[in-house]
Amino acid sequence: MLKKKTIGLIAHDACKKDMVDWVAYNAKRLAAHNLICTGTTGGLIQDYYNKKHPELKVEVKRLKSGPLGGDQQMGALIAGDQIQILVFFTDPMTMQPHDVDVKALIRLSTIENIVVACTRASADFIISSNLFDSEYKAIKKSHDDYTHRNISD
Ligand code: PGA
Repeated sequence: MLKKKTIGLIAHDACKKDMVDWVAYNAKRLAAHNLICTGTTGGLIQDYYNKKHPELKVEVKRLKSGPLGGDQQMGALIAGDQIQILVFFTDPMTMQPHDVDVKALIRLSTIENIVVACTRASADFIISSNLFDSEYKAIKKSHDDYTHRNISD
């Protein structure tokens, strides 16, 4: 993992204000990295940077909206080793139409052993870690046994 990381940011509707607050609190630190977001979350974060920190020239990459495939696009980037940190503020009190996508995203993050925060407190711990702006080698579990499993009998 390089010093400059690619960070995925997603917030369910009930958590979007929390996400923008968290980004605002950490605006300069986050601006040193690449930010990739699901559509609506990304729109809010881009608006924040454009209005409050135009000098940072942050360009948020926006995927589709989460329920319309954005979570799956994020998952594909994680599986392709393109994302090192995922900050995903989930709403535990509301049934999500794309619940299966949400679970799949967390599952893929676990397979790839990327850094994941689903709560603001975890995100605070991650962004204040010395590793946030350092190089770091995540240990990747080998799935060779699975890839080469015998399926002939
Ligand atoms: P959104 O998607 O940022 O487009 O609202 C978030 C989600 O996955 O629910």
